[in-house]
Amino acid sequence: MNRHLGILGGGQLGRMLALAAHPLGIRVSAVDPQADGPVAAVAEQITAAYDDREALARLAQADYATFEFENVPDAAVKQLEESLPVAPPPIALHTAQDRLREKRLFQKLDIVTTPYRDIVELSDLEQAFRELGKLVLKTRTLGYDGKGQVIVASETQISAAFQQMAGVPAIAEQWVPFEREVSIIIVRDRKGNFKSYPLTENLHRSGVLHRSIAPAPNATELEAQAIAAAHQLANALQYVGVLAVEFFVKEGQLIANEYAPRVHNSGHWTIEGAETSQFQNHIRAVCDLPLGSTKARGHSVMLNLLGSIPERETLLIEEGAHLHDYGKQERAGRKVGHVTVVSTTAEQSATIAARLEKLIHN
Ligand code: AMP
Repeated sequence: MNRHLGILGGGQLGRMLALAAHPLGIRVSAVDPQADGPVAAVAEQITAAYDDREALARLAQADYATFEFENVPDAAVKQLEESLPVAPPPIALHTAQDRLREKRLFQKLDIVTTPYRDIVELSDLEQAFRELGKLVLKTRTLGYDGKGQVIVASETQISAAFQQMAGVPAIAEQWVPFEREVSIIIVRDRKGNFKSYPLTENLHRSGVLHRSIAPAPNATELEAQAIAAAHQLANALQYVGVLAVEFFVKEGQLIANEYAPRVHNSGHWTIEGAETSQFQNHIRAVCDLPLGSTKARGHSVMLNLLGSIPERETLLIEEGAHLHDYGKQERAGRKVGHVTVVSTTAEQSATIAARLEKLIHN
């Protein structure tokens, strides 16, 4: 069996992938431009720019490659592909890197998505506002966690919002007054076998994930629809690995917001809350191993820790609480860890999570 996985990116996702690879006897090397990234404590880090050809040649000595970061240059993935199998497929990455391409793919597959307009000039934004009403202006590329987004709620805000984009290609999306947000995480292997985790309900604050609840309550029908959409997307992309699709729920209907061709923050609960974590299943798919069960082991609530890690003694005293400290330097707003509570009932995990939230100063 091959035993070496190369990862583009060495942040917390790379670290959790490396931790999941370890019991399978799979060694991990990761390229990241930031020295001493979260991955470095648990795997080999090659500190170099993503387009550093020498570093990529070193990474290409692995047996399989994947990425944990969406904004890696196409050229880096192409270079790796010449030497070893790369999954998820580069086309899935390329499409997700640009919100316009991503929206067009959703439309092509008849997956309902937010109405939007391509914005090149100020007049495009003016017209979009007339036609769609309240908008979220988003940069087409390099946006994440609500970065690169401006809300346009009135005509008077149009010009300033356009200026804020500073000439960068953007799309304007209709504002969705959603009831809730959910995500589906699926995994597909090279033979097209496919498994899905239970639907997860997500609460964002200022565009950043704050809390995930899994399985999402009262969501049987939504879950089936979300799985069907993700399955269709994965098949169209000939996808291999973990794929996350985020949706708004409005009037009980799913509206696709975006997809992530990688392990996803809203799937962190699977480490303790599912039979096989999203990280291990991603590795299994990428390294051509059989997929593990995606069944929930109870009811989970995952809370992101932004800026700082709360006092461990108080946090860990709670039954079913699991702390993940990414080993990052503390800085306001930065994702430095998460905590997952797993209990036998949804009520119990919610009660414990509510107590934990009081300790967290995001
Ligand atoms: P995104 O980077 O597109 O995932 O956006 C981050 C978060 O901002 C989402 O999870 C929503 O909470 C919010 N958001 C983004 N787009 C919209 C929209 N069109 N309408 C309402 N809220 C949005």
